[in-house]
Amino acid sequence: METRCLVDGKWVGEAHSPVTNPATGEVIANVPLLGETEAKGALDAAAEAFADWKRQPVKLRSGVLRAWFDFIVEHRDELAALLTAEQGKPIAEARGEIDYAASYIEYYAEEAKRILGEILPPPREGTRAMVLRQPIGVVALITPWNFPAAMITRKVAPALASGCTVVLKPAPETPLTALALAALAQRAGVPDGVLNVITGDARAIGEAFVTHPDVRLIGFTGSTPVGKYLMGRAAESMKRVALELGGNAPFIVFEDADLDAAVAGAMASKFRNMGQTCVCANRIYVHQSVADDFTARLAKAVEALKIGHGGDEGVTQGPLINAAALEKVQSHIADALAHGAELVTGGHRHALGGTFFEPTVLKGASAKMRVAREETFGPLAPVFSFADEAEVLAAANASETGLAAYVFTTDMARTYRMLENLEYGMVGINTGILSSEMAPFGGVKQSGNAREGSHHGITEFTELKYGLIGGL
Ligand code: ADP
Repeated sequence: METRCLVDGKWVGEAHSPVTNPATGEVIANVPLLGETEAKGALDAAAEAFADWKRQPVKLRSGVLRAWFDFIVEHRDELAALLTAEQGKPIAEARGEIDYAASYIEYYAEEAKRILGEILPPPREGTRAMVLRQPIGVVALITPWNFPAAMITRKVAPALASGCTVVLKPAPETPLTALALAALAQRAGVPDGVLNVITGDARAIGEAFVTHPDVRLIGFTGSTPVGKYLMGRAAESMKRVALELGGNAPFIVFEDADLDAAVAGAMASKFRNMGQTCVCANRIYVHQSVADDFTARLAKAVEALKIGHGGDEGVTQGPLINAAALEKVQSHIADALAHGAELVTGGHRHALGGTFFEPTVLKGASAKMRVAREETFGPLAPVFSFADEAEVLAAANASETGLAAYVFTTDMARTYRMLENLEYGMVGINTGILSSEMAPFGGVKQSGNAREGSHHGITEFTELKYGLIGGL
């Protein structure tokens, strides 16, 4: 396990900030608390490394990424165990996340070879015109704790594939997975200074990121307020920002849906990672004619979940990340009950104590409740009922955010109407799981401004340059 930071190919920093296992409260490691000066040093190293890295043949960059992918696959189980120890998610989900994280590296090792320019029609006789697609430069990345591996690789892999160099600040709750990935990247041949990983004071490091003259892009996944703050600060020097922020996903079940499939989809979408993903169903809208049936089946599935330490095989729900996360779930439940919702199952802290919480289903949810407007980010499934398609579409779109939405229906015309009219960056029809390295992940409205994954994921990390050659 690596507990120091990687700057310019060297492992640096003193053990300072504790990393705890959320299932036990036990301190499992201490990582450095670096500040603005060290962050500037890492950015300087990335700027220096950029000159060489951008010039490397694409086959070299592709090969390095491929070797990194191979090392991650080889160490999958150890990485998953580390991830569960610092984040809490069930070990099966952690293994799934490592596979998913690795898939971005594999994809961009391949996509590196397809970052293409264009030849344009010459505007005048004796000229030739072209478009070059070049790496944007040094990129500064900030990632959250809910996917300690995947949020990193889906930014770092396209950055390195494009020829950019990186300084990454992982979440303070989950730095160990990030440092382990960095150690494997180094082993895979990522040159000194091309990937730097620093842990420490978020504000101070953020200050270096937004003010350093060589940073050309700030990539961030996290909360909407911090995203807005970074976007504002980045504007001072016109740095590009790529933001993946919060959601408030509607999950809509029509009267013609296959209810078993809808319940399975709701379970996957809502309770994965204990409800702590930005694409988790937050508002479950069910047609009034099937609402009771759906809710009863959902409650039965929820009661079959196994809560415990993520490291124990068979566990499907671990602890929440911290006390603040637990309090938010409790406050959303209290607010919903005060506004007329009814508890169907769960609703309380779990007997295991700590930040364990019972997966919860509420019925009779309404637009007056906080859960209609705010992302719970926890294991709470509130069921709203609706009378017709126009009503539910309006309710689903009445949100400041627009990341993921889910619809269950067997009607083909309705499928297209919903797909086209939901104001969301991603829409899943008859599925509760959307993400793939081959698809563009991202949101509209206040959910962000970028896409990660697929060939579109290269866009943020590259600039277009128009070249016109005259006198020919
Ligand atoms: P969450 O509530 O899920 O932790 P945050 O947006 O607070 O969401 O955190 C996401 C990431 O942003 C973390 O790596 C965190 O350390 C970082 N972060 C938080 N505040 C700032 C800031 N002012 N400047 C830079 N990074 C920040």
